Amino acid sequence: MNILVFGPNGSGKGTQGAIVQKKYNMPHIESGAIFRKNIGGGTELGKAAKEYIDQGVLVPDDITIPMILDRLKEDDCKDGWILDGFPRNKVQAETLDKALKEAGMNLDYVIEIILDRDVAKLRITGRRLCVNDNNHPNHIAFDAIKPVEKEGKIVCRVCGGDLNTRPDDQDDEAIDKRHDIYYDDTVGTMAAVNYFKGIEGSNVISVDGGPSIGEVSEAIMSQL
Ligand code: AMP
Repeated sequence: MNILVFGPNGSGKGTQGAIVQKKYNMPHIESGAIFRKNIGGGTELGKAAKEYIDQGVLVPDDITIPMILDRLKEDDCKDGWILDGFPRNKVQAETLDKALKEAGMNLDYVIEIILDRDVAKLRITGRRLCVNDNNHPNHIAFDAIKPVEKEGKIVCRVCGGDLNTRPDDQDDEAIDKRHDIYYDDTVGTMAAVNYFKGIEGSNVISVDGGPSIGEVSEAIMSQL
């Protein structure tokens, strides 16, 4: 099963993607997480991407598109994947569509998490990233995924690992820029969403990202 997940930053897209991944045991490919891993590892890709990410703007397509298309060719993607954070603009959507057709890969579902921009922004600043696993959800404002205290330190609620914040999550301007890109339905991410929604026969699952993690997950799972 091949799935695209869309949602503005702060909509819980990563959390929901991780839940789907766990259930179907497929690779959860997150473009942002791949970039952050490369930045952490000091690779050439990481160095090239960092300045864009810190500002909240898109990493250029000539870096991002081959990175994702190559990832989809890896062995673990043979039986399905869930792609999160890509495509992020219309050009990426068109390129992905073409590449999937050329590779004979079907797109089974398009999941769209809908959330008001102001609500999404409020959610971003409280999220915390586990250093051990990007798929361990932690948020200081939500009881269900609140980090825990251990020996006077706030740590990951799943594994007890250290928690980080993303620099672009604490920068108001960077958050606004990311949302400008997401809600842009001319060339931005909403244009990519509409591109895939418009393909004949596409299975679109649109859910309200406002309720709890469990409720959103149930809404998605009941339609998958
Ligand atoms: P995310 O973790 O999805 O919020 O992504 C963090 C940052 O990585 C974004 O603000 C962009 O700078 C970059 N990024 C992630 N995905 C893409 C993409 N598909 N195209 C270009 N830049 C991306």
